[in-house]
Amino acid sequence: MTLTPEQTDATIFSRGEHNISRENINEPALKVLYRLHKAGYQAFLVGGAVRDLMLGLQPKDYDVATDATPEQVKNLFRNCRLIGRRFRLAHIHYGREIIEVATFRGHHELAEDDSEGSTRDGMIVRDNVFGTLAEDAWRRDFSVNALYYNIADFSVVDYTGGMDDLKQRRLRMIGDANVRCQEDPVRMLRAMRFAAKLGFEFDTELVAAIVDQHHRIEAVPPARLFEEVLKLFLSGKSQRAIHLLIQYKLLAQLFSVTQRHLFHHPEFLDFIDLACRNTDQRIADEKPVTPAFLFAFMLWGPMNERAKEFESNDMSSIQALQEAGRAVLSQQAAQISIPKRFRLPIRDIWTGQARLRNRRGRRPFWLIQQPRFRAAYDFLLLRADSIEPQLKELGEWWTQFQAVPEKEQKQMCQDLHQASHGQKKRKRKQTAVNNPDTQSGSSDDSPSSDP
Ligand code: ATP
Ligand code: MG
Repeated sequence: MTLTPEQTDATIFSRGEHNISRENINEPALKVLYRLHKAGYQAFLVGGAVRDLMLGLQPKDYDVATDATPEQVKNLFRNCRLIGRRFRLAHIHYGREIIEVATFRGHHELAEDDSEGSTRDGMIVRDNVFGTLAEDAWRRDFSVNALYYNIADFSVVDYTGGMDDLKQRRLRMIGDANVRCQEDPVRMLRAMRFAAKLGFEFDTELVAAIVDQHHRIEAVPPARLFEEVLKLFLSGKSQRAIHLLIQYKLLAQLFSVTQRHLFHHPEFLDFIDLACRNTDQRIADEKPVTPAFLFAFMLWGPMNERAKEFESNDMSSIQALQEAGRAVLSQQAAQISIPKRFRLPIRDIWTGQARLRNRRGRRPFWLIQQPRFRAAYDFLLLRADSIEPQLKELGEWWTQFQAVPEKEQKQMCQDLHQASHGQKKRKRKQTAVNNPDTQSGSSDDSPSSDP
């Protein structure tokens, strides 16, 4: 990439002209910056950490950019591992914290020029050439992500107008937005993530590019989309993110099964919305969130619809949920590849919905011991609190069951048994009156073949 003279001209904001203070940068990141600097290399904090610190937010992770090559970085740090085949990066480990150190990156190559015959037009296939600080800035995605905090003099270096965009709370793609979305369609999802997280507006050129280029997301490998979707939904602002995805027609690129279901059942969005709100709250409370839960709720509507069809063809509820679950997950795999370790928990949450209905005998005591009980129960409450209010009573029963001592739990089961027994008797009487030949009745607590 050849930069114009204006592009190599940076605006420097000195220590007094910005609000990043070393007090707010974490220890490991500072150590890395200082050690590189003392060894005579350039060292900058860059990316989300600078952006978030400017906004007074706690950075999620710290990225460092330097003119030292990965090997030179490795020689400076004992706790350093080089990763990545395409572009070598240094990971410096401090306990569980990892500081990512990247050598300034220069130009990239597009698939069109690729002699190895890579497929997709306009998409970057190689991005592995070292460059200058200015080049490194111009190949980044958004201007607010291309600000550099210089450990040498505590200034902030801005090549792309990021400081102004940060003040205007505007997300602007660096360079020609259309071309940049073409080069790497994941940038459109990153745009959604940052808009959701920061509450920034898109600049008009970016909006136009997303409208033009959104279909290109289908060319992104499903494994990369899995990573991006997790970041999008686990950013703590998934409720905003989902509405942005719908507004900019990106949902169909990620969850076409869900999108189609929403078209016929718009009320399903109330459930997704509540599940997202719940996820965001859990993240705010620093409670764990699992990717399995996320996929379970995104695909619940279409999966359940299919399960009902199977059930009307004489399958038990659990079997139907298992079959429909398998089918919907394999359909989803065309867009996002969900690793195997999450697929079983997803299906457990779904079959758990039928298991929670069946409270006969000692089943509740067995069920509550199951590893996915809590997730299935939380899921049930979300259904009850959104589109299936008829499940409220069942949800409340389980809430109480978990809260009381064993003696009372036994009593609850007995009461339930008596109630359903009484109901059966009443029903039997009724059917006997209406049809003296019939002997059988049915219980509310639909029996299932499979505990
Ligand atoms: P987060 O707070 O989620 O970590 P981030 O902006 O730091 O946000 P990262 O994925 O950690 O995002 O990437 C670090 C930086 O690398 C970004 O700020 C951006 O400058 C650059 N970058 C990451 N992905 C891309 C991409 N697909 N295209 C161009 N630049 C990118
Ligand atoms: Mg980051």
